[in-house]
Amino acid sequence: MKRFRSKAFLSIFLAILLMTSSATIATSCTQKTEATTKVGVVVTILPQVEFVENIGGDKVDVTVMVPPGASPHTYEPTPSQMASLAEAELYAKVGSGVEFELTWMDKLIAQNKDMLVVDCSQGIGLQEMTAPDENEEEHGGTDPHIWMSPRNAQVMVQNIASGLIQIDPDNSAYYKQNRDAYLQELAQLDQDIRDGLSGVKNRVFMVYHPAFGYFVRDYDLTMLPIEAEGKEPTPAGLQHLIEQAKEHNVSVVFAEPQFNPQSAKVIADAIDGRVVFIDPLARDYVENLRILMGELVQAME
Ligand SMILES: [Zn+2]
Repeated sequence: MKRFRSKAFLSIFLAILLMTSSATIATSCTQKTEATTKVGVVVTILPQVEFVENIGGDKVDVTVMVPPGASPHTYEPTPSQMASLAEAELYAKVGSGVEFELTWMDKLIAQNKDMLVVDCSQGIGLQEMTAPDENEEEHGGTDPHIWMSPRNAQVMVQNIASGLIQIDPDNSAYYKQNRDAYLQELAQLDQDIRDGLSGVKNRVFMVYHPAFGYFVRDYDLTMLPIEAEGKEPTPAGLQHLIEQAKEHNVSVVFAEPQFNPQSAKVIADAIDGRVVFIDPLARDYVENLRILMGELVQAME
């Protein structure tokens, strides 16, 4: 009797187990189907996540290679990031010579030969990297930070949209509509920054990492970089920067969260100014550039 009861209990237990596991299988199947109907897109930097999501909406699943807080000049992908590329249909590379892509792009593409690679920089004129003065004869190479100009961002968005339409032509009307709405938002951003900066007379600012070369080109500003060709300044370089800051009435020294702010602090202390952080890699691109404009207006007035 006891034996029978435990047997009965066992079969009920097994039945429940079976039901649960088939339910689990059913759920994971559904999830898988949903996941595969979305276009898997991989991007290098966080601002591109906003670009792709604004165009692709709920039809895309975006993965970023260089995570928050990391620098695309030095970041190396993890093995799980490499493996995740097997699921991707589109890689939207920045394309302007970002070190992460120069070092890793071939290996990333090798993970998935069927993935379409879109070059976001196509159609954007690259310019030279802004180097500290005195170095005018040495060139720092081309400036990869194309996304810091809302005008360039508009071209990047068009390139991403073309890639999505190529992969998923059934939804091309959806992508085009979203693209045009976001391009409008970027054009408005460009106009607002232009207006916001229009009253500023002393159009010079100092920043650790020269990520704003295209921004200063668009808005007729001058950027004094602290970092020289990817390196901390020498003591003599620091002294020169302090003199430069005084000469241009700089009171704010900008630093970026991806870099050590120590030399920015040294300069700020020497000029009796302060350090303010600005982020060239924030994910919320439009909002971030509005914040940047506000900081610049305050610093340069
Ligand atoms: Zn950079």
